[in-house]
Amino acid sequence: MTHLQIQGLSRSFPGADRAALASLDLSVAEGESLVLVGPSGCGKSTLLRLVAGLDEPTAGSIRLGGKDLARVPPQDRDVAMVFQGYALYPHRTSRENISFPLEMRKVPRADRQRRVDEVAALLGIGKLLDRYPANLSGGERQRVAIARALVREPKLFLFDEPLANLDAALRAELRVELAALVRRLGVTAIFVTHDQAEAMTMGDRIAVLSAGKLQQIGTPRAIYERPANRFVATFLGTPPMNVVEVAIADGKVTLGGRTIPAPAGAEGHATASVAFRPERAVLAEAGPGAAASGEALRLEGTIHFLEPLGDETIVHVDLAPGPAAIRLRVPGFTDLARGAAVQIDVPLEALAWFDAAGAERLDR
Ligand code: ATP
Repeated sequence: MTHLQIQGLSRSFPGADRAALASLDLSVAEGESLVLVGPSGCGKSTLLRLVAGLDEPTAGSIRLGGKDLARVPPQDRDVAMVFQGYALYPHRTSRENISFPLEMRKVPRADRQRRVDEVAALLGIGKLLDRYPANLSGGERQRVAIARALVREPKLFLFDEPLANLDAALRAELRVELAALVRRLGVTAIFVTHDQAEAMTMGDRIAVLSAGKLQQIGTPRAIYERPANRFVATFLGTPPMNVVEVAIADGKVTLGGRTIPAPAGAEGHATASVAFRPERAVLAEAGPGAAASGEALRLEGTIHFLEPLGDETIVHVDLAPGPAAIRLRVPGFTDLARGAAVQIDVPLEALAWFDAAGAERLDR
């Protein structure tokens, strides 16, 4: 059931050359977690602020549980927001911080006590309830801030980069904990993140924004495997999708010494971008390999950089003829050196086709 319904939502700031948010349509089902992801300035925080009631839209509507929020002040929206900056009260203990939203709602003392204890147990901070924020680590503070949001049992949670201030190890740990908790409790939540791994793992669906516009919304798998445009293809994934510009002649494209048919959607286009994920390309052994069967393209190039990461090595290759540069991943370390000539096989079924501007797919 649709829980949050956003229609035609726009927000323009005076003097800006584009809208911070432009005609956004989006819905979140009851119990669903949606991750908003996009580069800095794409409108993620603007959207959260509009939903929380901290800012007003220029146009459009937001409905929560069927109710139009237009004239509902923030405190009456039943929306809890967790920021990256914790925003805990320094002169209150963890218990008092977590309990505060309940006090505001005049929940009786015994109930408050019980609910704080429950939520503290969920987040593993039962032993920290008498401490002040200054005496907590960053991860502990963030747990208290999350507990304070959870204790209210609101209709909707908004998490604005909730893990951004934490170091990498703690971030990875809390990411799993928070995602598991949100699913277990069946709450409806929107997460904003810059982080690839968070985007892929925290939500049931991902919404990708760029320059105030929704680029694609779908399951993490759909977004990763079938990006709707070049922006999405190159935004998610580390390293991102490789993109090679090609010319189309008579409905065909010549790449890696082979001529292959362009998809039907390419009709009328003189050029296109062909893209593939780094993990779909393999360094070819000497000999014909997969390319001989006609099911793969064989590209040639020279290694110009290697990034050995331990579990894998990212190999940067300048294609010949150029000017495209691509990246692929090989397991573990490699004996190959910079300057080595390599051959790369890319299965034809791994190719995604975009128009020259990258605005849409040609292989629908
Ligand atoms: P980040 O990831 O860096 O937090 P974001 O995706 O959350 O970015 P927003 O903060 O929503 O981006 O900003 C979207 C656009 O609106 C930006 O171009 C920003 O400069 C602009 N903007 C946001 N708030 C205001 C404001 N109060 N006045 C003018 N422009 C604003």
